Amino acid sequence: MIPKDLLDILVCPACKKPLTLQGEGQSLKCGACRRVYPVRDSIPILLVDEATLDPS
Ligand SMILES: [Zn+2]
Repeated sequence: MIPKDLLDILVCPACKKPLTLQGEGQSLKCGACRRVYPVRDSIPILLVDEATLDPS
């Protein structure tokens, strides 16, 4: 799980907007551009190339 204080400083690398945790903390979603970033071994992979687009 990602600590709240760390989550608070994480921003989307594409648009610099705040990210929100999804599901059980397996991914981070940007509400602005809808990119979803994976979390591997509790480490957020904040790379635009690793992101997937969530149309919803
Ligand atoms: Zn974004």
